[in-house]
Formats: sequence, C-alpha cells, structure tokens
Amino acid sequence: MIAITYASELTNFSFDKMDEILAASDRNNVRDDITGALVYNTEFALQCLEGPAAAIKAAFSRICEDDRHRQVKLLSVRNIRRRQFPDWSMRACVVEGETLRGLKIIPHIPLVGFRPTAWSEKDALTFVGALSDHLTQTRSRPSEDDAPRRIVRPRPVGQVDPVSELEQRIAGLM
Ligand code: FAD
Repeated sequence: MIAITYASELTNFSFDKMDEILAASDRNNVRDDITGALVYNTEFALQCLEGPAAAIKAAFSRICEDDRHRQVKLLSVRNIRRRQFPDWSMRACVVEGETLRGLKIIPHIPLVGFRPTAWSEKDALTFVGALSDHLTQTRSRPSEDDAPRRIVRPRPVGQVDPVSELEQRIAGLM
C-alpha cells in the first residue's frame, strides 16, 4: 500500500461542490479500497489518500483532471503497512479560523491562513500524523516493522505534471 498527500487551490469554492466531491469520493473510495482525509478551507485543500498503488494512481489521475481545483502539488508519496485513516473512505475536515471545525486539535500547528500548497513534505506529514492521532485516539508513530520511509523531495511545481510525478515516485518506492 502507499499513501500520498497533495495540496491544491480550490476554484469557485462552495460547500455544495465539496459535498458533491465527498459523495463521489465516498462511492469510489469504498469500491477502490482507498481511505484518507480531505482538509479544506474556502481556498485550499490538503488530501491524504491511502490504499493499493494502482487504485491511488487511478484516483489521483481523475482528481488532477478536476477543474474544481488547480495547482495540484504532490507533497508526499510513501510506502505504508498501516493506514492512518482506516475508518474513513474520506474524512472531511473544514479549517475554520485557527482550528478544524469541531476539533480542538493540533495546537502546535498554526492553521491561520491555511495554505498547504506552500507546505513542505515534513509540514504535510506532521499535520497528517497529528490529525490521524487525534481522530483515531492512538499514537501513529511508526512501529519497527514499518517499511523504511524513503523521502523523495517534490520537484518544483510546473516542472512535471503531478500524475507523471506520482508514477515516477511510486516507481522509486519499489
Ligand atoms: P461521476 O460520478 O460522473 O461524478 C461525480 C460527481 O462529481 C457528479 O456529481 C459530477 O457531476 C461531478 N463532477 C465530476 N467531475 C466534475 C468536474 N470536473 N467539475 C464539476 N463537477 C464534476 N474522487 C475520488 O474518487 N476520490 C477522492 O478521494 C476524491 N477526492 C477529491 C478531492 C478534491 C480536492 C477534488 C477537487 C476532487 C476529488 N475527487 C475524488 C473527485 C474526482 O476529481 C472526480 O470528480 C471523481 O473521482 C469522478 O468520479 P466518477 O468517475 O464516479 O464521476
């Protein structure tokens, strides 16, 4: 299994659009054995998708073609043995002010001006880990039998299209 995290800029945001996206995500992700989380405000989104590599590649290709967002920036691609969001086909969290709506979490990560397209891979993984910890109420530190992480730095946006970049990075994990 792999997990990917990307950030993007939402176009013409509305909660109705997000509801449509989440309904399609729920339907497709259950079918494709994908789990994850989608965190957003009215301008930006950060999504973690985890599951079989082929299913993630197919979902990410569809997602990259979606004109409800743009500037998709792949932040992290890694092998995983355990899911960080095992209970959710897609857990949605709305960023509101300094926190996530309804969740008093991650006090050490400022969410004011949530702009994850500017985050580093480390920022994104720290955030995703803290969110997973909070939602599952378990610590998600890597266990000794987890596959070693090979961190590959993302290329600058625009150099390679995100789908080709994901393919290259999955190949690098094998
Ligand atoms: P359909 O069932 O035909 O479409 C699903 C719904 O979305 C329909 O209501 C359709 O009208 C509408 N729709 C589809 N494409 C567009 C578009 N470009 N503009 C406006 N409306 C459209 N999909 C997943 O499967 N899993 C995910 O985790 C996931 N996460 C997403 C995260 C973000 C930030 C965004 C923007 C999209 C995400 N999507 C996700 C949606 C994805 O981009 C595709 O729209 C979806 O996978 C298509 O599903 P489908 O083939 O079942 O199409």
